[in-house]
Amino acid sequence: MTSQPDSSETYDVVIVGGGIAGLTVAYQLGNENVLLLEKEDICGGRTLSMDMGPYVFNQGAQMIPGGETNVAKLADELGVIRTLIDKTHTSTYMNGKYVTGSSEFKFLLGLPIPLWEKLKMAIGIIRMRSRYSGIVDKSPRSDDRKLQELSEKTLVERLNIRDPDVKAFWDSVAKSSSSLGATEVAAFQPVNTFLHHAADEFFVEGGTVQITRALADKTKASIETGAIVTEVASTDSGTTVQYEKNGALHRVQSKKCVMAVPTPLTLSVLQNLPDNKRAALAQCEYGAMSSAAFLVDRPSEEFFGDGVWRVPVVGMKTIGIGDPTFTFSNAVKREDGRGLIRLFAGDDGSQTLQKMSDDEALDAFENDLFDIFPTARGRVLDRAIKHWPYAACPWRVGRLDIIDDIRASHDNIHYCGDYTENSGLESAVLSANRVVSELAAG
Ligand SMILES: Cc1cc2nc3c(=O)[nH]c(=O)nc-3n(C[C@H](O)[C@H](O)[C@H](O)COP(=O)(O)OP(=O)(O)OC[C@H]3O[C@@H](n4cnc5c(N)ncnc54)[C@H](O)[C@@H]3O)c2cc1C
Repeated sequence: MTSQPDSSETYDVVIVGGGIAGLTVAYQLGNENVLLLEKEDICGGRTLSMDMGPYVFNQGAQMIPGGETNVAKLADELGVIRTLIDKTHTSTYMNGKYVTGSSEFKFLLGLPIPLWEKLKMAIGIIRMRSRYSGIVDKSPRSDDRKLQELSEKTLVERLNIRDPDVKAFWDSVAKSSSSLGATEVAAFQPVNTFLHHAADEFFVEGGTVQITRALADKTKASIETGAIVTEVASTDSGTTVQYEKNGALHRVQSKKCVMAVPTPLTLSVLQNLPDNKRAALAQCEYGAMSSAAFLVDRPSEEFFGDGVWRVPVVGMKTIGIGDPTFTFSNAVKREDGRGLIRLFAGDDGSQTLQKMSDDEALDAFENDLFDIFPTARGRVLDRAIKHWPYAACPWRVGRLDIIDDIRASHDNIHYCGDYTENSGLESAVLSANRVVSELAAG
């Protein structure tokens, strides 16, 4: 294939990647002379959702953090409706036991771990709250002392975890946000996730994809889907971006380029990266995740019990099970009579599942579902699965030391995406806001 410049026009900005980060940059710029290139047939990246019965299966992100977060403000600005997930119970599934409590204290008492460990855990959580609650969903700064503490030790070291069951509990929390277990991940990510679980979280009506759909509808930029970017190079006057679409190669020029894709893809397409930049990006490896949903012939609450939205699962391939119908009105649920249950697996479990056919992987998830809720057996009406090879970018120990290099722009190329902050939608939007400021600064 030979490539020709598409036109003599030079875009002000070309954005590579149409997930929430790239789309937020495109929307915030408010400039018509911007091109966004997305390899899939639809934009959205890890926010994709699908309907199942009257409910929504969020295949990727399933909630947005509330309060004063940038992603919540963005959803409101776009007119996307979000509903508070008004959970009243804390729950987990551990050692074959479904534990649920209307307060953290009752929940801890019910955990199948020794009394001394419960006490240690309670004290650890109180300390964690009082010292670190200010860091939740904030942009990590390399000179922040509290973040340094959380970045220089693993979670097991920071919380001094010894008991294997307690470690298994924290593994489940760690894997849900980072894809790494508690002995590998720096304390920062799981501490952030744990504290954030207790804060306000919102379900997006119609699915998380409504945010990215609204961004794509409202941006003034041109969007090219099915466009796989294969090469990005700096030139004297800006950048050249080459992409493949429908078997043909295209080449466009731009004054600036924004890379809004996971790092392995960035590394594979970027030419002439400065050494420190390449080294920093190479340390941002990704873990995989898989999510599955099961439409069942009775309301989800009959399995989960009252007030339970999300249940970390300890010691199985599945690391979390949740009720996607939680925020739907009782009227909808009564009239429909069915329920939806969502399970997801972290990196090691997902790697195994991705080697199977979809039916085999769904069978494996279904076995976990029946272990957790034996009464679900024989009640599954429909099921769906989605694998994410680049699901989450974990913070290993020392990551804070390279965060400035990870974010740094060079030669008219700028970097956004959740990995440049922490992980999750708020990180992706924070990163987009930073890039918009960089572009405005020239
Ligand atoms: C299972 C799962 C559950 C999650 N749950 C939550 C949650 O509840 N709350 C939360 O806040 N976050 C959650 N997250 C994380 C959240 O989804 C991500 O942090 C966020 O969507 C990342 O957005 P992004 O734009 O940085 O990256 P992405 O969404 O990955 O966007 C990158 C885009 O680039 C495109 N692309 C890749 N290569 C190329 C190429 N060569 N050329 C052109 N385009 C390319 C991709 O197709 C994609 O659309 C979850 C993630 C997963 C996988």
